[in-house]
Amino acid sequence: MAELLAAFAKRGSHVARDTSGTVYDPEVAKLVLEELLVEAGVKILLHTRVVGAITDQQNRLVAILTESKSGRQAWVAERFVDCTGDGDLAAQAGCQFDVGVGADCTCQPMSMLALLTGVDPHAVREFIRETGSAAKRRFLHLMEDAGISPSYRAPTLRHLHSGIYSIMTNHEYGVSAFDNAAVSEATIRARREIHDIVDGLRRLGGAWQEIAVVATAEQIGVREGRRIRGRYQITANDLASGLRHKEAVCRATFPIDVHALSASGNLEIDQTFKKGGLKPYDVPYPALIAADVDGLLLAGRCISGDFVAHSSYRVTGNAVAMGEAAGRAAATSALQAVLPHELTWERIQAATSSS
Ligand SMILES: Cc1cc2nc3c(=O)[nH]c(=O)nc-3n(C[C@H](O)[C@H](O)[C@H](O)COP(=O)(O)OP(=O)(O)OC[C@H]3O[C@@H](n4cnc5c(N)ncnc54)[C@H](O)[C@@H]3O)c2cc1C
Repeated sequence: MAELLAAFAKRGSHVARDTSGTVYDPEVAKLVLEELLVEAGVKILLHTRVVGAITDQQNRLVAILTESKSGRQAWVAERFVDCTGDGDLAAQAGCQFDVGVGADCTCQPMSMLALLTGVDPHAVREFIRETGSAAKRRFLHLMEDAGISPSYRAPTLRHLHSGIYSIMTNHEYGVSAFDNAAVSEATIRARREIHDIVDGLRRLGGAWQEIAVVATAEQIGVREGRRIRGRYQITANDLASGLRHKEAVCRATFPIDVHALSASGNLEIDQTFKKGGLKPYDVPYPALIAADVDGLLLAGRCISGDFVAHSSYRVTGNAVAMGEAAGRAAATSALQAVLPHELTWERIQAATSSS
C-alpha cells in the first residue's frame, strides 16, 4: 500500500497520501495499477470472466475456463489465485464456502458509488467526510430538509481533487452477488437513486445549484460474496483476542464494519453487530489456501473467515497485502514444485524477499 500511495503521488494525486489512503483518485489508481502490471510483464485480459474450473484426479486445479469477446478459452497454469471477491473460481473448482449470516445467508448490502462535480469545496466543507464524523450526519439532515431519504443513512461525500467528489449514499439490501438478474435490478435502482438525490440537492440552490453526476461506478459495489473454506478460518474470537500467528501475511486493524442488513436496520441503527471492537490481528497464510482443492490460493474478501471477521478483513488495505502474499506464495510453490499448503510463510518470504 505504501508503494501505491507513493506512486499515486508521483502521478500527481496527493489525496491518498494526505488522507492515509482513505480517499484516492480512481482514475490515477487505474493508471498506476495498469502501469505497474505492464512493467512487471503481467499480461492483462480485460472484460474476461472465469466461468469454469478443471481439477485432476488428485483434486488439483489444473485449468480454468473464461469467456470474453474472444469466446470461450481454457488456461492451464501451475497455480491459481482466486481474487474474484465472490470466490467464483474456488466455487467452480468445488470448494466449500459460507455466505452471509443466519439461516437465510443474509449478506451485507451492496452500494453504488458515483463521482460528482459542480460544487465549491469551501462552500460545502462541513459536509465533506474528511472534516470529521459529524459531516455525514449534517449531510443526511441537509438531504432530509430537501425531502430526500437516502437508502444509506450515513451519506459520505469525499473531495478527490479540483471540485470532483465521490459520494456513497445508496444501500441495496438482500441482493445475492451470484444472481445476475438481481444484481442488474439493484444496479438500475441504485443509479436512479443517485440521480434522484443529485436532482434533489440541485433544487436546494445556493452552493448546490450546479451539482451534477460525472459518472456512476462501472459496477455496483459488492461488500460480501462467498467466504471460501481455507486451511485456517479467521473468527470473531481472533479479532477479540488480537490473534498473533507465526504465519502472518499482514496485520489487520480495520474495525468490525457490518452495514445494516435490512432497510429497517438502517433506519433504526442495527446494534446486532457493533462497529469497532477489535484488537489488531494477524491474517494467517493458511487462511489464503483453499482447503478442498490443491494448487489454489485466495486473496481479498473471499479468503477463509466467519461473517464478523470478514466485515473487518474485507477492506482494500488488507486485500492488497493478501494479494501480494498470495502472488509470492504462488510463485514460490511453482518454482519449488511443491503445493502451496506444503510451504510455510517463512519459506515463501525467504524465497521472495530479495527479489
Ligand atoms: C460501497 C463500498 C464501500 C467500501 N468502502 C471501503 C472503504 O472506505 N475502505 C476500504 O478499505 N474498503 C472499502 N470497501 C471494501 C473494499 O472495496 C473491498 O472489500 C475490496 O475491494 C475487496 O477487494 P477484492 O479484490 O477482494 O474484491 P473486489 O474489489 O470486489 O474485486 C474483485 C474483482 O474480480 C472481478 N471478478 C468477479 N468475478 C469474476 C469472475 N468470475 N471472473 C473474472 N473476474 C471477476 C470483479 O469484476 C472485480 O474487479 C468498500 C466496499 C464497498 C462495496
